[in-house]
Amino acid sequence: MNETGNNFNVEEIFGSKVFTIGKMKERLPKTVYREVVKVMGQGGSLSKTSADVVAKAMKDWAIENGATHYTHWFQPLTGITAEKQDAFVTHPDEEGKMLMDFSGKELIKGEADASSFPSGGLRATFEARGYTVWDITSPVFLKEGATGVVLCIPTAFYSYTGEALDKKTPLLRSMEAVSEQALRIIRLFGNNTSKKVTASVGPEQEYFIIDREKYLKRKDLIFTGRTLFGAPAPKGQELEDHYYGAIRERIGAYMKDINIELWKLGVTAKTQHNEVAPAQHELAPIYETANIAVDHNQLVMETMKKVAGRHGLTCLLHEKPFAGVNGSGKHNNWSLSTDDGINLLDPGVTPNDNIQFLLVLACILKAVDTHADLLRQSAADVGNDLRLGADEAPPAILSVFLGDQLDDVVAQLVETGIADHSIQGEKLVTGVSTLTDIQKDATDRNRTSPFAFTGNKFEFRSVGSSDSIASPNTTLNAIVAESFCEAADELEKADDFEQAVHDMIKKYLYEHRRIIFNGNGYSKEWVEEAARRGLPNIPSMVEAAEALTTEKSIRLFEKFGIYTKAELVSRQEITYETYSKYINIEAKTMIDMASKQYIPAVIGFTKNLADTIVALNSIGADCAVQKKLLSDVSGKLNEATDALNALSEVVVRVEKLPTEKEKAFAFKDEVKPAMDSLRAPIDALEMMVDEKLWPVPNYDELIFEV
Ligand code: ADP
Ligand code: MG
Repeated sequence: MNETGNNFNVEEIFGSKVFTIGKMKERLPKTVYREVVKVMGQGGSLSKTSADVVAKAMKDWAIENGATHYTHWFQPLTGITAEKQDAFVTHPDEEGKMLMDFSGKELIKGEADASSFPSGGLRATFEARGYTVWDITSPVFLKEGATGVVLCIPTAFYSYTGEALDKKTPLLRSMEAVSEQALRIIRLFGNNTSKKVTASVGPEQEYFIIDREKYLKRKDLIFTGRTLFGAPAPKGQELEDHYYGAIRERIGAYMKDINIELWKLGVTAKTQHNEVAPAQHELAPIYETANIAVDHNQLVMETMKKVAGRHGLTCLLHEKPFAGVNGSGKHNNWSLSTDDGINLLDPGVTPNDNIQFLLVLACILKAVDTHADLLRQSAADVGNDLRLGADEAPPAILSVFLGDQLDDVVAQLVETGIADHSIQGEKLVTGVSTLTDIQKDATDRNRTSPFAFTGNKFEFRSVGSSDSIASPNTTLNAIVAESFCEAADELEKADDFEQAVHDMIKKYLYEHRRIIFNGNGYSKEWVEEAARRGLPNIPSMVEAAEALTTEKSIRLFEKFGIYTKAELVSRQEITYETYSKYINIEAKTMIDMASKQYIPAVIGFTKNLADTIVALNSIGADCAVQKKLLSDVSGKLNEATDALNALSEVVVRVEKLPTEKEKAFAFKDEVKPAMDSLRAPIDALEMMVDEKLWPVPNYDELIFEV
């Protein structure tokens, strides 16, 4: 125990399970270490001998820390991570002695049977070979679980024919593209020293925590991660007493445990607080390179789930676990900075004078406006359909919030061609002599915008809480790379750079101003206004999937070598397949629960009522109330049974449709409404039937009794 009552020291445990650059420096010969650093920063590959040296150092460190296995850790298109563990064990010698070993070849390349991962037609089942390739830019780490300690090597995942079967490969490709194009922009402004531009990402992760025993009593939570039935609790989030509220002891202990695990893994868990909905919380790490942020976010999600078990809790990462209260998302904070620390999204004190910033901003607005459909698609997942556009979180329509200061600069430029001043934040006068007056930001926050400028970064808020943040960042990098490229193509040729850049900023802002919206994104008026502006409003994941294979999308991604057309088609196919599979599981879970749990419970209740009525009748007592209730309950029971039959039928029919696309649309347009029709009478019955007879924990118990 130290003075603070903790039996650990944060500085000491931080990164203790990571083979950090520092550890490589200590353990590798200087030349090899230098080679590693060079490849990490500038690309290329390690020589075979160096790879062997690195592998041996990693293995020694891992074994010293209790590891018995290693794994190529990768991110297939399921959205989560995958691993196949191999022991460091080798053939024993003649005397039967075995020496643990790990070669450079094993570090760099792995073979994984790819046939059971989604490939969207890129690979037939009989062509099962897939390869995992070490991503040297993301550090290896140790994972401790029931199988012991495993050395995890972040890798990319390819098919035998070289197509990406994962989320990391396109992300890495997009990071290179945006770096290259951003360098062209800053070179135009005379920067000849920066060597690289890196996309940085800080994802704020929202989640729900519920009691594990109650969780285990609900098949919907077990199979789908969300409640498919449930009448609202008498109290929701209307008192706004949970957001930033004092953290309860049981949750606090859980959060502390997560932080310790994450710090050991080198994740800078920084901010934690209660969120808007009851039982909802948030964790945010400090931002880092996009690639590492993506890997770390996977570790955050995995750790949240794992640690919950130790506390008798379950962590729900689903975007909408409970109807009627807020769902969960992930605010993806994104910026671009040079290797020598210049943030291209930093407006400075007077953005009107900062021409480079204004060009970058104009390019980003152009990118988001041109590819609003793709960006929307990048944040689509099955659960997020219940959130985006559903009167909470960001709407399904993409728009950009700039805030008063930048909005004013844009207005000056568009209207007069000259921006000669910037609004400055005033002093906040507290009116209390003992409180210091503070300087306000030049701009207030806006909570409803899906894509908000927040000081020196953009915050993309549409991403779902359970989703990988790889796709949103791949798309962001790609669309911005394209607009930087188009700007650089033109400006590099200009005779009068100053005039050309000025004209370009004005033109871009004028042409793409429609994407800027500073008002209330939840309002009905915005939906109408956005339609007038011609902004796409894409309500669902299956509709959003079409954006992947438009001509404009294929041109963009092929130009920068981020996705081939075949990879885009396959991803679209996987989106349809995934959607249908998830909704199918939800529908079948509802059928199961309704037939085996709810309807029998209600029948039990009607039997009790009938018995009571018979008894009351036999003594000549009044039983009007009981009769009325019985009739009401029977009415709803009829409705539920009809809806159950209808749902069962539609699922069988839809499953037989010939193409993945038709299936996905039918699941959305036919199965989902049939699910809603079953939920309604069951939820109504929950309000009529004796609580003691209800077969599963209700909303009160799930979200208020944690
Ligand atoms: P806010 O409260 O405005 O959302 P925070 O400072 O709490 O901002 O940051 C939220 C997330 O954004 C954190 O993960 C933080 O590290 C990250 N972040 C801060 N600055 C940047 C930046 N320049 N680029 C990317 N992410 C950033
Ligand atoms: Mg934020």
